[in-house]
Amino acid sequence: MRVDIITIFPDYLSPLELSLVGKARRAGILDVHVHDLRSWATDRHRTVDDSPYGGGPGMVMRPDVWGAALDAVRALGPVGGSATLVIPTPSGRPFTQPRAQELSASPWLIIACGRYEGIDARVAAHYREVMPVIEFSVGDVVLAGGEAAALVMVEATARLLPGVLGNEASAPDDSFAPGRSGAALEGPVFTRPPVWRGLTVPDVLLSGDHGAVARWRNERSADRTRRMRPDLVGPGYPDDKVLPLAESEEW
Ligand code: SAM
Repeated sequence: MRVDIITIFPDYLSPLELSLVGKARRAGILDVHVHDLRSWATDRHRTVDDSPYGGGPGMVMRPDVWGAALDAVRALGPVGGSATLVIPTPSGRPFTQPRAQELSASPWLIIACGRYEGIDARVAAHYREVMPVIEFSVGDVVLAGGEAAALVMVEATARLLPGVLGNEASAPDDSFAPGRSGAALEGPVFTRPPVWRGLTVPDVLLSGDHGAVARWRNERSADRTRRMRPDLVGPGYPDDKVLPLAESEEW
């Protein structure tokens, strides 16, 4: 998969050289290119923003600068390759695990990181005529720019690419994974030592009884989902995925 990220803060994307994403890049599974939007500005101050039509606070990113950048970056890709334009914005559709899975099937993503009050709305409207455009929000919070959202989206997408995760079995079992057995959230996890600061690991996990372990995990998962994310229980999340709440459990 190829990913091009356009930003006024290229250094913000340096964590993409680390950890799982960095490894995927070095393995040739993921090809990331970061571009400085200001290289397409035309004045000597390399201006990318202007005041909003209609008045109001803040500045808006200019469509002419974004248009020049996006046209140039689209021309860099594989001949005939079809890119999807991803625009992070708090007013976009929620970026969720199923959406990450969909993105991981795309051969090429171009991510346009906004700043200030965002990007002139004509940019999304124009490119929608020539390529798929998705506006995504990474949560009901307002960030200072699209770079942190791009990091979230690239990492969530990259770990779903074949060959990236050490254990391919872990992604289908993660919280929110489509088709996951049990409720939406994964339950608590434990490792050695068996007793730490007086806290013990639940006996069932030491029992060697795989059926009992699976049942316990499903119950914990259902309980956690009900407590933490009641919005994920009910319509849209079939009742048969949510097991009864075990009040007596500690975890
Ligand atoms: N005035 C905008 C609004 O209220 O919708 C917020 C603009 S925000 C300060 C600047 C940029 O940060 C946005 O253009 C977008 O790129 C990014 N951003 C902020 N919050 C985001 C979120 N929850 N998800 C994705 N991108 C976000």
